[in-house]
Amino acid sequence: MRKRKAILIMKENQLELFVETRVCRICSVEKPIDRFHKRHKSPTNTTRDSRCMACCNEGREWRRKERKKYEHLDTGLCHCCGRKIKSLHFDHDHKTGKYRGFLCHFCNTGIGKLGDDIEGVTRALRYLEKHEEQNG
Ligand SMILES: [Zn+2]
Ligand SMILES: [Zn+2]
Repeated sequence: MRKRKAILIMKENQLELFVETRVCRICSVEKPIDRFHKRHKSPTNTTRDSRCMACCNEGREWRRKERKKYEHLDTGLCHCCGRKIKSLHFDHDHKTGKYRGFLCHFCNTGIGKLGDDIEGVTRALRYLEKHEEQNG
């Protein structure tokens, strides 16, 4: 099953078959663009994943295995805010790949959006503290 997205372009009065490719950031292999998952930023703006589908699948498989390893630490309560949630998100450090904890959807996306690291979250904390100082 090998689908390829090819674009025909006219070049010097000759039709050339141009296959858009991308180098995967994980395996460093150059692959046709359709081997990378589409990401929808908006209905008109789609980008492609920087990891190829094979690497994505591997990542998913790895997360599944990791989650099993730490399953006993899933208490049903978010490790950050303590909210009781049925299905917690398995959170890991994206840089080191190490397990961090189990988070609810809000804490997981919140931390992720703040940069997914201490630096980013501290920046947000400093911002709030500054506001508090000014009003206090
Ligand atoms: Zn890859
Ligand atoms: Zn939470």
